Amino acid sequence: VIDWQRRADRAEALAALLPAAAQALRFLAALTRAQGEIYQHIAPRVPPGPAPAEFLLPHAAPLVERVAAASPPALAAAGRALSQAEWASLLAAEQADKVTGRDRAGALSPASFWARALLHPFWAAAAVQLQGEAHDGEGRCWGCDAAPLCGVLREDREAGAAIRWLCCGRCGSQWRYRRVSCPACGEEDPERLPRYSAEEIPWVRLEACDACHLYLKVIDLDRAQDAEPVADELGALALDLFAAEQGYRKISPNLIGV
Ligand SMILES: [Zn+2]
Ligand SMILES: [Zn+2]
Repeated sequence: VIDWQRRADRAEALAALLPAAAQALRFLAALTRAQGEIYQHIAPRVPPGPAPAEFLLPHAAPLVERVAAASPPALAAAGRALSQAEWASLLAAEQADKVTGRDRAGALSPASFWARALLHPFWAAAAVQLQGEAHDGEGRCWGCDAAPLCGVLREDREAGAAIRWLCCGRCGSQWRYRRVSCPACGEEDPERLPRYSAEEIPWVRLEACDACHLYLKVIDLDRAQDAEPVADELGALALDLFAAEQGYRKISPNLIGV
């Protein structure tokens, strides 16, 4: 379940702390507030299966207008230029990709960015309906089969250990995953799973894999209780720059394609 208000507030709070990511975080805050409103509207009557175009189309142009001021100008212009027919075909294409597991995230066009932004509250509502079917141990989202955007560490008092959860950027689901294992390729040799951190954001850690050269960021919720996975992942831009220098690629790109 996504707490839209908390994500937006956290993004704004981090924007004041992390100048390098401030613009992206303010954009996330605006987008999240708009998505939260759409969620409130659609969640009580989400149909099973893919959303028919007419279910989401009334929210499409208003979404672009709500966030245009905080958006990169070219992205806002691309969103405003979309006709209803284009919106409908983008929404259908994104939902078909979700079903087939095709991942075009690496080359996200501005048009598909908007389609995903509109689908995010829908996918979140659909995942909430599936709750209870969660399972442990897989490297992909149990709700929608996306690769994880990031992870969080959360203390399990009964087990007396921190448990790693993976977080889906597409539908907002979280699921437990082994601490020492690459979610992309399953590598389990600790020597090949280096971890890095950055001074300005010590509660976020870069977890890389020297077998597949992919990485994701993991947020330690015991060190930052206000943290919200999507906002903190985006804010920890310094770690992405470092990862790129080291030749690692992210398992699943975030909102700004990093
Ligand atoms: Zn998901
Ligand atoms: Zn790997």
